[in-house]
Amino acid sequence: MTENHPLPPVDDGWPQFLPGWVWLVGAGPGDPGLVTLHALNALSQADVIVYDALVDERILAWARAEAQVEYAGKRGGKPSPKQRDISLRLIELARAGRRVLRLKGGDPFIFGRGGEEGQALVQAGIPIRIVPGITAAVAGLAYAGIPATHREVNQAVTFFTGHDATGNAPGALDWGALARSSPVLIGYMAIKTLPAIAESLIGAGRAPDEPVAIVVDATRPGMQVVETTLGRAAADFAASGLEPPAIVCIGRVALMRQALDWIGQMAGRPPRDLDPLGGAVEEAG
Ligand code: SAH
Repeated sequence: MTENHPLPPVDDGWPQFLPGWVWLVGAGPGDPGLVTLHALNALSQADVIVYDALVDERILAWARAEAQVEYAGKRGGKPSPKQRDISLRLIELARAGRRVLRLKGGDPFIFGRGGEEGQALVQAGIPIRIVPGITAAVAGLAYAGIPATHREVNQAVTFFTGHDATGNAPGALDWGALARSSPVLIGYMAIKTLPAIAESLIGAGRAPDEPVAIVVDATRPGMQVVETTLGRAAADFAASGLEPPAIVCIGRVALMRQALDWIGQMAGRPPRDLDPLGGAVEEAG
């Protein structure tokens, strides 16, 4: 694959991966087609690839055959290396003169600790490059046929995490402020704490019958979507038997899936409703 991939040669203006550098690279949420050309360019040059649990293994197939591939998975509840140890490992590899590709799911700077790792590297005097990736909330909703913003619904969207550093519903979050922040809220790592999240949002004024879509294994072959409401989300997800990773979309944009489930339509399921929000979109003047 690397010999044949369609990138121009690196000396044609693509960034050259120099020894002793660490590139923090987003791999996107799963579908290899969502990997950026900069990420592909990085994979075609790296000596060592240190990757996370959420990186789709199909993407690693694009690494050079001689590249060393190291797993540094961090998944809730499972034993995983400490963040500090990962940063120290990156520093050690860079100091040994390797081209170090730190490959992270989605985007490295969206709930991905890319900031912490980048800071540790810069503090150690290691030069870095950041390659953004398509974050799970954006791609996951798109693959479920849900626009994260839709003119009739929201002029703002909020990304939040359901876990803080201790793995609990984040104490640092002001639930009242979150509930009022925007008509669409998109939660990462929000499954374990979904009962508490839903209760807190309803307590802060969000309607129990507000539409919710939970996108599991987004953009991957086994992707599943649970359509529910805020009041029923935790129970419906538990009843589904599905497991994270999942993105939780709270807001009326979730209804748009009834018209825009393009993956379902490719599989022969006609749209359930051509106007799920019940108001034809007006053309702006
Ligand atoms: N940096 C990543 C997010 C890491 S936090 C990004 O930008 O996407 C891990 C959380 O991301 C998971 O708990 C889940 O909420 C979400 N996530 C990542 N990949 C996902 C996928 N393929 N499907 C659904 N959710 C995903």
